[in-house]
Amino acid sequence: MVDSRRNDARFSVWAGSLPPVVGRGDTLTLVPENVDTSVDHQARVEIARWTHTWMCAAARTHEFLESIWDEESPASSIGARDALSLVVIDAVRNTYRGAAVALGPNSDPVRAFEERQPDLKVVRDRFEHFEDYLRGAGRAQMRRGEVLVLDHLVGLEIRSSSGGGPGGHSIEVAVRERDGEKTYFIEIGAAVDAARVLAPAVLVAVGLYDDRHADRCAFCRRLDSSPGA
Ligand SMILES: [Zn+2]
Repeated sequence: MVDSRRNDARFSVWAGSLPPVVGRGDTLTLVPENVDTSVDHQARVEIARWTHTWMCAAARTHEFLESIWDEESPASSIGARDALSLVVIDAVRNTYRGAAVALGPNSDPVRAFEERQPDLKVVRDRFEHFEDYLRGAGRAQMRRGEVLVLDHLVGLEIRSSSGGGPGGHSIEVAVRERDGEKTYFIEIGAAVDAARVLAPAVLVAVGLYDDRHADRCAFCRRLDSSPGA
């Protein structure tokens, strides 16, 4: 009993509510398609909880990111938003990773997420290995074991960022890769929104999403509403 209370508190910090007991009469039945259930059910339940927590981390960090603006100091405001973008991208990527295991990589929600966020996985990989990409030793830079010669150019950078649009703060990431320079574009708000659709689909698949959660969770996109609601 003590353990379960502690567990509730841990998740309520992020989520407001995540019901510890499943199978209530009001559990929703909007189960996603093409779900791989070969992973042990209890493991999927725990992965679903972590997936939801990462989504909440992304959403809360994004709220904070968008709240940062100092008219007196726009450059440092943009710098702060860029810095938090790295954290949000990491949290969204972890949401995606959890969903891919809990639902399977070919499930409809995971594929829909990939279509909405084609650059996110690549950018997260480049950021995770930033120390390699800055010296030409990233996996997308090396050729037959040889480090890419950068000729004093930067191997990886946030080239520009902007805000105010429907996708919120956005960053353009430039990477010098072995086939030439690539640019990737991430709208941070849109990435978080995709995670907010994905996480409740995971909860539904393992039986953790019900009316109580839908009413109390500030971050899951309600499954009976449109994605833009
Ligand atoms: Zn939720």
